Amino acid sequence: MAIYITRDFQRAAEVITFVGREIHAHGWSAAASSNYSLRLNSECCAITTPGKDKGKLAPRDIMVVDLDGHPITPQTPSPETLLHTSLYQHNPQIGAVLHTHSKTATLLSRLLKGQMLLLEGYELLKAFAGITTHETVLRVPIFENSQEIDKLSFRITQYLQQAPQTYGYLIRGHGLYTWGKDMAEARRHLEAFEFLLDCELEMLKINR
Ligand SMILES: [Zn+2]
Repeated sequence: MAIYITRDFQRAAEVITFVGREIHAHGWSAAASSNYSLRLNSECCAITTPGKDKGKLAPRDIMVVDLDGHPITPQTPSPETLLHTSLYQHNPQIGAVLHTHSKTATLLSRLLKGQMLLLEGYELLKAFAGITTHETVLRVPIFENSQEIDKLSFRITQYLQQAPQTYGYLIRGHGLYTWGKDMAEARRHLEAFEFLLDCELEMLKINR
């Protein structure tokens, strides 16, 4: 089945390209880093291929993988593909996943020594689906960075199974993963996270 030439895939590639360029313009995906993906159906997703300048992202830079991370189109997937597909496998409601390497996420996750960042008291917490008040504590787990993506993916999935109300996580010295039911929601969650992480980093500097 030539799924990669279906209209669904072409549309997904256009959406990822548009959002990816926007994210790059914010400075959250420097030096060809980051990956963005969009679920196509219950068996596969469209995802960026590795090493592409996200400021010049084009539909030809998007490929299709199954939910085990295996390529369906001829390109070679990024090693981090599994961190996207394991989220789609974990939760059928997840429709899009965005991963960025912003300076703030990188710095803040290095400065914080614990395994958890608590975001609380911010009006912007209401940007996350289902949160209706600033009187909320949003827990953001911090995982140690690793090049062994299968082991990292296993640890993250284990965490999410016991903490389903999670909107994203940090990888120390690396970046942020967040998601949503569709690309618009994932995009909103990403922008809210980047704003709140910026606030936390500024507060840490002021309080030192
Ligand atoms: Zn990464």
